[in-house]
Amino acid sequence: MIQMNNVVKKYPNGVVAANGISIDIQKGEFVYVVGPSGAGKSTFIKLMYREEKPTSGEVVIAGMDLTKLKNRQVPLLRRQLGVVFQDFKLLPRLNVYENVAFALEVIEENPKDIRKRVMDVLDLVGLKHKVRMFPNELSGGEQQRVAIARSIVNMPKVVIADEPTGNLDPETSWEIMNIFEEINTRGTTIVMATHNREIVNTIRKRVIAIEGGLIVRDVYGGDYGYES
Ligand code: ADP
Ligand code: ADP
Repeated sequence: MIQMNNVVKKYPNGVVAANGISIDIQKGEFVYVVGPSGAGKSTFIKLMYREEKPTSGEVVIAGMDLTKLKNRQVPLLRRQLGVVFQDFKLLPRLNVYENVAFALEVIEENPKDIRKRVMDVLDLVGLKHKVRMFPNELSGGEQQRVAIARSIVNMPKVVIADEPTGNLDPETSWEIMNIFEEINTRGTTIVMATHNREIVNTIRKRVIAIEGGLIVRDVYGGDYGYES
């Protein structure tokens, strides 16, 4: 589902944030990405949703070679891949329903089907009763639920999350993890960068550790492995 072959990312300021990364993530996997600050986790993840392009090497997501992807093909990628951020990135002037509906890359669907699709994903994240609320009327956990609903509304094969519980209290973080697990159970591949040691050590998954732009550890059912 996700392949990287010898990927190097050198930023214009000379920093090498990926220094020859190769990885193969299969359909249906749930992968944590861990490592110290500045290790290259966000860069690794940004390369997957084409927020950054590699300096060299190959990135293939759901059969699409991102290094060869034309700008007009980006909507195609969006349908295969949802993204969830630490700071939610909801649109403040749109309500819950609109935030989710807005991300829908519509392909000849009638309004009734669209409405059903949006309500189905809001139901899955437990927010069906708050469709008319605006982001600033919601708790952090609720905002993240909306962001997750938005990320899956196109029924993507892959969901990428960059520290999705980083701004949430522990209890809310566990609730958000339950939603990711449910999405994974339904067959979606999940890649999640996280600093949450307790979650990684409790909900055991594949753990990829990055340091200095390199994968230094890749263990199924591994632990967090850092002191902080
Ligand atoms: P992490 O997510 O593990 O904290 P990042 O991928 O954000 O790591 O950063 C890896 C390295 O790349 C760091 O040294 C960081 O300062 C640098 N970096 C990240 N983004 C940029 C950028 N847009 N321009 C220049 N350097 C960057
Ligand atoms: P952009 O303004 O970057 O072109 P769009 O207008 O296509 O974005 O999307 C509107 C909003 O929906 C943006 O906030 C964007 O982050 C979000 N979005 C679109 N596609 C996805 C996706 N596959 N996963 C998560 N969020 C998405």
